[in-house]
Amino acid sequence: MQRMVHINRLIIKLSFIYKRYHIYKQMIPFNKPYLTGKEILYMQKCLEEKTLSGNGTFTQRCAELLRKKLKSEKCLLTTSCTDALEMCAMLVDIQAGDEVIVPSYTFVSSALAFTRNGAKIVFVDSRPDIPSMDETQLEKLITPRTKVIVVVHYAGVSCDMDVIMEIANRHNIIVVEDAAQAIDAFYKARPLGSIGQLSTFSFHATKNIQCGEGGMLAINDKHFCNRAETLWEKGTNRAEFFRGEVDKYGWRDTGSSFLPSDYTAAFLVAQIEQWAVIQARRKAIWERYYLGLKDLKNITVAHIPAYATNNAHMFYFTCASLEERTALIKFLRDNEIVANFHYQSLHKSDFMTNQPNYVTPNLPQSDRYTDCLLRLPFYYELSNEEVDLVINKVKEFYTK
Ligand SMILES: *Cc1c(COP(=O)(O)O)cnc(C)c1O
Repeated sequence: MQRMVHINRLIIKLSFIYKRYHIYKQMIPFNKPYLTGKEILYMQKCLEEKTLSGNGTFTQRCAELLRKKLKSEKCLLTTSCTDALEMCAMLVDIQAGDEVIVPSYTFVSSALAFTRNGAKIVFVDSRPDIPSMDETQLEKLITPRTKVIVVVHYAGVSCDMDVIMEIANRHNIIVVEDAAQAIDAFYKARPLGSIGQLSTFSFHATKNIQCGEGGMLAINDKHFCNRAETLWEKGTNRAEFFRGEVDKYGWRDTGSSFLPSDYTAAFLVAQIEQWAVIQARRKAIWERYYLGLKDLKNITVAHIPAYATNNAHMFYFTCASLEERTALIKFLRDNEIVANFHYQSLHKSDFMTNQPNYVTPNLPQSDRYTDCLLRLPFYYELSNEEVDLVINKVKEFYTK
């Protein structure tokens, strides 16, 4: 008995020492979703009221909060940004032979959503100064079959929207903004996601404002509003029925079930309420990284064009080569810091190169970002000490 007590004490002591050591050695992860603390309260309210399905009180409140920020005609919460992009493809009525211009350096969903019905994806290169699309290359990619241009505001840093909108309007092409990373970001004082006819947002756990999995479609051209609501509600006019505008609802169009549960929206409302706090801290982290690394000759830190603002979605820089980036990632990993590269150019993806008659375009900037771009740990709870540690380790890599 006596011996058992002793052994137990020893185990407790050892596990305490181990935990201490572990905290000391704890990795700085790449990302950590931030919780404001209110999520559970709002979700509980939702559960108590038993309004669990889509388009409930929280969903409507959330969509209205976001619509006011964007001054859009209509906002519909979806289960993801990918879903919202699928809705865009349905709304513009993508048909066989239609062409859709998409940057190659982006997340799969920006292109995926437009690959149905035999449409053709045409890839545009990134700019030399930012990974977003090079608007000077658009004109030569346009044909009479071009139906949509999907712009992606990489890292929440705007594409040159005046130039893009002018070209699109002149050719009668619809612009969809993939604003997944672009919450609280502006182009010449206009919120991103409010400029193209349609735009999409993500509230995935890795984004500034998040609810695990979630997204939104924002509609800026009001002639899409009614149909969007129908597509959202499984091709029915159920939303009108809920508002008491019709006495029964039925099947009217194509569509799917794009609505999130109301408790997802409840979670998101808690996040939106802390918008300013979250963004202030993220911007401070970004600024600290920037000041710490901007003079390091070996790398090029993120550029913010004069027309754009910075929403502190991520902190990235470009290295000189793939070999250098790989060595730096390993060096940081050996020092308990997780830094990540980002997209693999879509124009060289298996999916695209397996398409019949596909000719791989030459997109040198997209390839360069694929090989050389590196993202540092970035999340609300990252402390100043941790930011400084990361900065010092990057500098140490280049001086050794
Ligand atoms: C995150 C992201 C998406 C996908 O968002 P989901 O909500 O996960 O579907 C699409 N496009 C871009 C540019 C993104 O960063």
